[in-house]
Amino acid sequence: MRLEWNPTFSRQAEQFDLRYSCADCGNFDVGRQACAHKWPTVDHRLPHAGAEEADREVVFCKEFELR
Ligand code: SF4
Repeated sequence: MRLEWNPTFSRQAEQFDLRYSCADCGNFDVGRQACAHKWPTVDHRLPHAGAEEADREVVFCKEFELR
């Protein structure tokens, strides 16, 4: 799922300590640095960096499972 980034997202993500990226997903294979379910990770490997990020999108994976 892709959402257009806005300042409210970053503020609330910090306020509520939102986890949504592969870095915090139980399906991420740290040894292989890849998704154990073979999904692409390039768009959401790490939490969104903020307004300076070029694509201005926040990407969520529907198989995310909190580690
Ligand atoms: S299931 Fe989705 S969020 Fe989890 S590691 Fe795989 S691609 Fe990343």
